Amino acid sequence: MTLMAITASAALTDTYTATARFQALAYLLAAILFILALAGLSKQETAQRGNTLGIIGMTFALLATVWAVIDGDSDNRVLTIGLIVGAILIGAFIGTWKAKKVEMTGMPELIAMLHSFVGLAAVLVGYNSFIEQPGTSSPENAFHMGEVGLAVFIGAVTFTGSIVAYLKLSARISGRPLTLPGRNYLNLAAIVLSVALIIWMANTRSVSAGLAPLIILTVIALLLGAHLVLAIGGGDMPVVVSMLNSYSGWAAAMAGFTLGNDLLIITGALVGSSGAYLSYIMCQAMNRSFISVILGGFGSDGAVSTEVKDYGEHRETNEADVAQLLKDAKSVVITPGYGMAVAQAQYPVADLTRKLRDRGVEVKFGIHPVAGRLPGHMNVLLAEAKVPYDIVMEMDEINDDFADTDVVLVIGANDTVNPAAQEPGSPIAGMPVLHVWEAKDVIVFKRSMGNAGYAGVQNPLFFNSNTQMLLGDAKKSVEGIIANL
Ligand code: NDP
Repeated sequence: MTLMAITASAALTDTYTATARFQALAYLLAAILFILALAGLSKQETAQRGNTLGIIGMTFALLATVWAVIDGDSDNRVLTIGLIVGAILIGAFIGTWKAKKVEMTGMPELIAMLHSFVGLAAVLVGYNSFIEQPGTSSPENAFHMGEVGLAVFIGAVTFTGSIVAYLKLSARISGRPLTLPGRNYLNLAAIVLSVALIIWMANTRSVSAGLAPLIILTVIALLLGAHLVLAIGGGDMPVVVSMLNSYSGWAAAMAGFTLGNDLLIITGALVGSSGAYLSYIMCQAMNRSFISVILGGFGSDGAVSTEVKDYGEHRETNEADVAQLLKDAKSVVITPGYGMAVAQAQYPVADLTRKLRDRGVEVKFGIHPVAGRLPGHMNVLLAEAKVPYDIVMEMDEINDDFADTDVVLVIGANDTVNPAAQEPGSPIAGMPVLHVWEAKDVIVFKRSMGNAGYAGVQNPLFFNSNTQMLLGDAKKSVEGIIANL
């Protein structure tokens, strides 16, 4: 029953208790707050307000749910309260401990792990609903079993997909795509078989009859989730992270259907659709086919060149020379990447920006949509260090300006400034990149010449005649430049 229907019928009849009315109202309010929260999160200026609205919405939702559960279980009220409070305390303790411990660079892995929990929760909720089914031959029961099957399917795909994403992002397994022969047919067969198993489940009348298709469905969905993400190469992982975010939303929405919880359906659908939209935007930004990425690389033959090329000698520089170059410059563009997050260099970078602007140098930032390891990673770091929003440009806004720029500081970026993306056969071929090489001088900050970027591709930028390498930790290097200004 929808929220509207509950609210309307609660107003018209006496069959709804005060708790049901309070719950319907609180859920409605929470749903509105979640929508406003998402709207707020779409802009940096309003993101904090969006976050606060989301927290208030979640508080309403939690209170209303807990109250309704306690109210509805008059026989074991004390036990129910104890279990709920215990679960909240354990969850809050683990969440706080993890959030405090995690480095900014470990956020993507943590998020992938959290998505896997949502998937697992949907699977467990599905199994619980399955065990508690009335087992009648009514159309309602058949429909409910269909919902259970879908919840378990989406949850299991999200669960293993997120675990594989976690292992890839934390470099515990290789980021290279796994290209099994006929992998697209394997995926297709898994989906067709799963649909058949869900139909089988919906036609069973008891737990014992439905258990076999449910278990086979779970195993197939677990394998499918792992395979979909294993087939995706390093450079496309950002889309996978946001896609799994979306899947976790749909998994939550399905859990909402099986539990008959309207707010979970609304919240799950909000996360699912906004995650899908984000993935679509990222695919467009990276010139990737959305369908290809969500279907585990469908349509790409996986043929990439791994040939090691000799680009000649690179030139090295030092902090004093870079400081001099900056003093003489009129325009500077900073393109940060994952290395800035690793070095936690955003504070000295913000300091350098202030100092240069005070000297009359025009400073702008060029942000690639997949720089770092999270959508919006660089924007978060720069906002944290209080870099003004109006000098932080998107890739499309800044790419035409490089040709008129005196100095570009590439701070810990690699794949996102790699001209190899313009070479057919490269693992990152077709991905739009920041055209930093068009500037008069390019300074690249990285620790050594030995390491490649996330996608494992050589970067010819480092060997250009207008490029100089400033080797060392980015934070120390920027602090050294400031000291020499
Ligand atoms: P890359 O990961 O390509 O490169 C990072 C660079 O930083 C390297 O050159 C590295 O070199 C350097 N570096 C690392 N630590 C330091 C340090 N302490 N001081 C100075 N330099 C350092 O970064 P980009 O941001 O350019 O690209 C992001 C990549 O990650 C893309 O391939 C993207 O697809 C992928 N990705 C992005 C996600 C997202 O959502 N944004 C999610 C998952 C993957 P060295 O080690 O020598 O120091």
